[in-house]
Amino acid sequence: MPDHVLIAGGGIAGLALALTCHQIGTRFKVFESVPEPKPLGVGINLQPSAVRELYDLGLAERLEGLGVRTRDYGMYTKKGLHIWTEPRGTWAGYKWPQYSVHRGQLFMMLYEELVRRAGKDCVETGWTATGFENEGNEAVLHLRSRTGEARTVRGAILVGADGIHSAIRAQMEPKEGPPKWNGAVLWRGATRAEPFKTGASMVMVGHSKCRFVSYPISKPDPATGLALINWIANLQYDPAQGWRKEDWNREANLEDFLPKFLGFRFDWLDAPALARGAEKVFEYPMVDRDPIERWTWGRVTLMGDAAHAAYPVGSNGAGQAIVDSRVLGRCFVEHGLAPAALEAYEAEMRPATTKVVLTNRVAGPDSILDVVEERCGGEFNDIEDVIPKAELAEHAAKYKAIAGYGIQATNEKPRTIPEGARVKA
Ligand SMILES: Cc1cc2nc3c(=O)[nH]c(=O)nc-3n(C[C@H](O)[C@H](O)[C@H](O)COP(=O)(O)OP(=O)(O)OC[C@H]3O[C@@H](n4cnc5c(N)ncnc54)[C@H](O)[C@@H]3O)c2cc1C
Repeated sequence: MPDHVLIAGGGIAGLALALTCHQIGTRFKVFESVPEPKPLGVGINLQPSAVRELYDLGLAERLEGLGVRTRDYGMYTKKGLHIWTEPRGTWAGYKWPQYSVHRGQLFMMLYEELVRRAGKDCVETGWTATGFENEGNEAVLHLRSRTGEARTVRGAILVGADGIHSAIRAQMEPKEGPPKWNGAVLWRGATRAEPFKTGASMVMVGHSKCRFVSYPISKPDPATGLALINWIANLQYDPAQGWRKEDWNREANLEDFLPKFLGFRFDWLDAPALARGAEKVFEYPMVDRDPIERWTWGRVTLMGDAAHAAYPVGSNGAGQAIVDSRVLGRCFVEHGLAPAALEAYEAEMRPATTKVVLTNRVAGPDSILDVVEERCGGEFNDIEDVIPKAELAEHAAKYKAIAGYGIQATNEKPRTIPEGARVKA
């Protein structure tokens, strides 16, 4: 009988699960559709709840080498007026930092570390998952190579970690169709520039119809003082007009969005200069998927974006994928490589992530920007006249609790996987 975990998709979720399987002494194999791992993407954030999991995987030093410990998170009107700033990571009282990192560098770090620990053969690239079956005590994964060759592999468990266009999920939910677009488009880039504010600040400027988000994702170069600054320009359109298929690597032109942000120039941030300085600009529609009733079919389950793709507004998509991998690992330790492990994992993670998907649609942490815009058009003498500080603090704390990274809850939670825990043979 097969005794290993098949992982369809070697993105952030799949690699974190593979590293977890290696840590708990379980055999596994990752099947990734791209022919060669490449450092794709721009900035992402890892909340302390995910950083602690990477620390528990022995990756603290490597993470520190890549990212920036995010110090605070601030909201500003389109006129650059200050609404609210809250400390982040250890500055907020967490035991672990929040990191802002380049997604491609995080991905390559996880990949290299996995290959170093478990050997190159544990990841097979160039194989696309096309479907699955449960057969007796086996999970069966169907694959296709880039040249059209079909192949079937068998394992004790199959995990669909194949992202927002998951083929595994599509088989479970044949009527679902493409992700849902809410009319917003995100233009993303990373530019070498001087860091602003504290040098490790994340800022959100404007409101949901016209918003600019920025934060550094590298430490400054000691010679030039320049850091890699991530930025996202966000505009709203009529969702009825439709959008091209979501592709994280679609390149775009500055003229598509820059004219709307020409006024976003303040003494601490020059949004047009940042956008013009990027080597490449990518566009991505704001899409998510409706939560589904079931992730687990016998010996097959979903994780990461395949399970719960949400709007990228709460800085927790990649972190949530990492947390999924750790909870699933703990369930393997507790229940073995059996359907009971997948059911226990789903019982814990599906309700929690469903709340995040739904909250991100209406009340992500930045929804305060819209409240301020509606109430005063972005201009005020004293923010207290527009929205009391206590209301701002309450909104921020509520979101963290829903997204599973409340300060006290994170600090008090025991390790997800106890040190030295192993899956019983
Ligand atoms: C190229 C790329 C760039 C990205 N850039 C950003 C970014 O700049 N900012 C941001 O916030 N998020 C970005 N994301 C998304 C972000 O990584 C995820 O939202 C989050 O990390 C959750 O990770 P995931 O592993 O579930 O999904 P992903 O990171 O999307 O990983 C899914 C993996 O599965 C592979 N795959 C897909 N279909 C199949 C299949 N049928 N069979 C086998 N393998 C398959 C994909 O190639 C990918 O490696 C990017 C994703 C990708 C793939």
